Amino acid sequence: MTTALLSVENLRVSFKGSDGCAPVVHDVSFDIEAGKTVAIVGESGSGKSVTSLAIMRLLQSGSAKIEGTIRFAGQDLTTLSDAGMRRIRGNEISMIFQEPMTSLNPSMTIGRQLAEVLITHHGMSQRQAEAEAVRLMDRVRIPSAAARLKDYPHRLSGGMRQRVMIAMALSCKPKLLIADEPTTALDVTIQAQILDLIRDLQREEGMSVLFITHDMGVVAEIADRTIVMLHGRIVENGATEQIFGAPQHPYTRALLAAVP
Ligand code: ADP
Ligand code: MG
Repeated sequence: MTTALLSVENLRVSFKGSDGCAPVVHDVSFDIEAGKTVAIVGESGSGKSVTSLAIMRLLQSGSAKIEGTIRFAGQDLTTLSDAGMRRIRGNEISMIFQEPMTSLNPSMTIGRQLAEVLITHHGMSQRQAEAEAVRLMDRVRIPSAAARLKDYPHRLSGGMRQRVMIAMALSCKPKLLIADEPTTALDVTIQAQILDLIRDLQREEGMSVLFITHDMGVVAEIADRTIVMLHGRIVENGATEQIFGAPQHPYTRALLAAVP
């Protein structure tokens, strides 16, 4: 009997391509307990994003072959209906990405985009959505929320755009937030602010976070547990203090040696 919110067992993902069907994610297994932050760290191409997209079932079924079991709050996401999976993505698991601009519509104000999510996915009236949009902007500490809601995305800095994406992700009060390199495109000082925000929200909302990064410094800031991936495999998985204090795998030691 497991208490994990998310339980990934023997996940294997391969893409049909020139080299046949070589897996890019091999036998990946890990759990995320409710209310905990787990980091997946590893160099570019190690299979971090593919793992998270497989959890969200956002890989094209025509080109990707997915094996293994992904259990979330008692349901097997690999066999869930498409409608069931849409409900999970709309209400239970939210995801944010490296470049917030790609997820925002450049020709619609921030306020309209937030309101649209709240009206179409959460059944709010226009008035309720407008009030909730202000509340969410405050929640992610965007100053002068009401004025910012009238802005188009290009008027906001990268850090502010990422805050808007976090606000959208929080709009459904998710049990799990998957953050795929959410600070990689930002300046170092802004990175620290976004990490602080995610950490505070995680505590206040009591949600679980799967935080994907290539940066061990970020891991130290945010994660209860750390998973190290190399060439599509997990080479180390443990409490963050344990990984930093007594790394077992040579690749983990190399990653730690590179931390300033
Ligand atoms: P990262 O750890 O940088 O997030 P990814 O999970 O994006 O790495 O990618 C892992 C491997 O899978 C890489 O070799 C990448 O080229 C390959 N890959 C990712 N997406 C696809 C795809 N849609 N089709 C074919 N190969 C892919
Ligand atoms: Mg990636």
